Amino acid sequence: MMVFECVACGAALTAPVRQVALPDHADHEAWDGGGTTSALLESGTYAAGPEQIAVAPADVRDLSWIEGRFEGSCCGLAGRRTPNLACACGREVAARVDDCDRWRVVWLQAGAVRAVGTAEPVAVWETFDWGTVLVDDADLSWHDRVRVSAGLALAHVLIASEGAPVAVPDGPVADTFRRHLDELLPPGPPARTLALAGPDMPGEADIVLVPRHPQTGEPWPAAGTVVPISAELWKWLAHEEDHPVIPATGGRWPYLIEDPLPRRPKRVELSWWTMRLEVRSLPRVPWLPQNFYDR
Ligand SMILES: [Zn+2]
Ligand SMILES: [Zn+2]
Repeated sequence: MMVFECVACGAALTAPVRQVALPDHADHEAWDGGGTTSALLESGTYAAGPEQIAVAPADVRDLSWIEGRFEGSCCGLAGRRTPNLACACGREVAARVDDCDRWRVVWLQAGAVRAVGTAEPVAVWETFDWGTVLVDDADLSWHDRVRVSAGLALAHVLIASEGAPVAVPDGPVADTFRRHLDELLPPGPPARTLALAGPDMPGEADIVLVPRHPQTGEPWPAAGTVVPISAELWKWLAHEEDHPVIPATGGRWPYLIEDPLPRRPKRVELSWWTMRLEVRSLPRVPWLPQNFYDR
């Protein structure tokens, strides 16, 4: 386990935490409204981003608010890039984010902290449960997370297509992506194929959707053009028979856990907005609708 400490004074700023892959949705809002967004990470874990390290709000220690830094949108704190938490020595070290549509998290500034302790050994792929989709009635943000991952996946498949139509065999991959691929790529005889590859799934196709290692984020090693996706999305796409459920009203409010009406299955509807944002962050390609790139 690792503890993050202040580079200025050496104080421990977190509980012991172990590494997990940075979730796809870290940089994307949840659009769930009502200030009920889940934590980005489970307590006891951390994820390293490019300039910041994410930890669960419950895992920070001995930090205090910086007066005048309570930037938020409407219900809380949303200023991820500007520290609003300081170490007891005064060093600005972290930004707490906790607002409607924002995943609750503390972002430690990479330059203000250092990791001490012993990192967990990297677990082999077989350690993780690839056989079951997490379908927990109490997990109200499963769809919000997975629709972001699916939007990112579509963006990368559109780029990997190199402008050729993409053929997808029937099943969850087709249900999630086919109509968007058909709409967005030029028509013609299918020239490239798309399939899953990963644990217990050899997956032969021109473009393969592979899971990222849940601890390190490394993609599953596979031949062909690889599009890494979140392990959570991959598991769902690999298990056609599992149907995550949502409260019958479709809402995400915690009181619906107590609702006596049965849950209903809901397939993943990928986030078109996330897909467009991701496409626009990548080098421009000529085969996508040019209005994608308009401001
Ligand atoms: Zn300090
Ligand atoms: Zn709000």
